[in-house]
Amino acid sequence: PRDTVDVVVVGSGGAGFSAAVSAFDNGAKVILIEKEPVIGGNAKLAAGGMNAAWTDQQKAKGIKDSVESMYKDTMKGGRDINEPELVEVLTSHSKGSVDWLTAMGADLNDVGRMGGASANRSHRPTGGAGVGAHVIQVLYDNAVKRDIDMRMNTRGIEILKDDKGNVEGLLVKGMYKGYYWIKADAVILATGGFAKNNERVSKLDPKLKGFISTNQPGATGDGIDVAGNAGAAMTDLEYIQAHPTLSVKGGVMVTEAVRGNGAILVNREGKRFVNEITTRDKASAAILNQTGKSAFLIFDDSVRKSLSKIDKYIGLGVVPSADSLVKLGEKTGIDGKNLTEAVARYNSQLKSGKDTDFGRPNLPRALNEGNYYAIEVTPGVHHTMGGVKIDSKAEIMNAKQQVIPGLYGAGEVTGGVHGANRLGGNAISDIVTFGRMAGENAAEYSKKN
Ligand code: ADP
Repeated sequence: PRDTVDVVVVGSGGAGFSAAVSAFDNGAKVILIEKEPVIGGNAKLAAGGMNAAWTDQQKAKGIKDSVESMYKDTMKGGRDINEPELVEVLTSHSKGSVDWLTAMGADLNDVGRMGGASANRSHRPTGGAGVGAHVIQVLYDNAVKRDIDMRMNTRGIEILKDDKGNVEGLLVKGMYKGYYWIKADAVILATGGFAKNNERVSKLDPKLKGFISTNQPGATGDGIDVAGNAGAAMTDLEYIQAHPTLSVKGGVMVTEAVRGNGAILVNREGKRFVNEITTRDKASAAILNQTGKSAFLIFDDSVRKSLSKIDKYIGLGVVPSADSLVKLGEKTGIDGKNLTEAVARYNSQLKSGKDTDFGRPNLPRALNEGNYYAIEVTPGVHHTMGGVKIDSKAEIMNAKQQVIPGLYGAGEVTGGVHGANRLGGNAISDIVTFGRMAGENAAEYSKKN
């Protein structure tokens, strides 16, 4: 071998970094590899929030929530096929994960609503900046502080095992160094999902053939093959999520928090057609049913001011605006008269506290301040719920439900946590909690081997 360590982590998204930092803090010598030239994976693009229940941040804002409520919402959103013991881990450790990041310097003080949640529990930086980029920055800074060996442009190719079937290392391919192997007691796969690989996606779900994707180029799913070749069992691969709001212009993913903070969805006819903060599968299906298979997010300056991320979209030139809804209609091709009526009706329902048309559970603010904005959106492939089978200690299992000794998995490469549909805000929560756990358990395992 070219190097000898206790733990190798494959992938530099939120799961990989959480695993590397936590393995190090539990006494392991660690190498983290990433096949792309840049760190952060898809985690870096996550803008919605990090779901957690009954946190200090919620308490400070007077928000009532519980682990049981987050558990119920997650199971319901996943159509009850989630692995209950994994959801138990996700929800009961969510506060601990927020505290862990906060202790390392993260700001998760802004708390908002995401689809399918019965409480405001999506934690993000003050002012509503992108949570993923912030979390990755904090984890990266902490990895640098610990002097963890991080290697970009280095792809994990094959898990190496000894003759007893225990992991003994990883074959990698460096862009400049070529093939070499790293000897290690444990390998943690944190290679993310495969939403960017439309060939793989459409084989599993033909409806999604030709769809654009919100993901970074590395989200091809080769980690699934690495795990499969090492004997890992797979689960729920056919469940693939479309994110309802990708901007038609520019293909930018528009975070669910825009709706959570008050935007409504209308069709070309200027009419609302869905509870905007329903789960992603339902919102995507509803948008595909509208004329032109797209819809418009409509909001005003009060929503804009509540979420700094919106100024980024405006900066990208994908958000037409006007000082009246009629003029906004002229600019976008939406029926302005109906749009004016739809917004007036929404505002009046907000006053009475109940959306009797579509049953939207939270109506955070009236749309009547300053300029109005529209973003034309359509669904894009966003998250792959399925993946390698893990147990509640993040150990990867084979088809006989036995643990593969020394092999761990965390994050989107795994299946079971989100069932048939992942709730917005549960990805960051998942990758930090299971990443931490994989790191801790791999470090402990390495001490014994
Ligand atoms: P998660 O959200 O689960 O942490 P991400 O998508 O954020 O997942 O990160 C996964 C990372 O793993 C990406 O940066 C991706 O490029 C990287 N990756 C995927 N396959 C491999 C591989 N075979 N070797 C090294 N890195 C990989």
